[in-house]
Amino acid sequence: MPDVNENEPAGAGTAAEPEAAARTATAAGIRVEVDRDRCIGAGQCALTAPTLFTQDDDGLSEPLPRASHPPRHPLLHEAARACPVTAITVHEP
Ligand code: SF4
Repeated sequence: MPDVNENEPAGAGTAAEPEAAARTATAAGIRVEVDRDRCIGAGQCALTAPTLFTQDDDGLSEPLPRASHPPRHPLLHEAARACPVTAITVHEP
């Protein structure tokens, strides 16, 4: 059964959107990924860690390069936890 996001407007994330479904920042084995099909632009990530995340013109989150640069920023996981739709994944070695 596919994931269903009740907060997502009908039709969002359809094939009509040519953009990549994820934005990532990668360095030294740390990869920070934002699933833009899930992101609803709530802004909690950028509010929690403004040096690690920003929002594009559509309000969708993008990880900044610093998000994946060592040493891992203390607010990285807190920002991921703050996302109401769990759109942020932090991959660490
Ligand atoms: S907190 Fe989650 S939903 Fe909100 S902008 Fe960040 S990634 Fe998107």
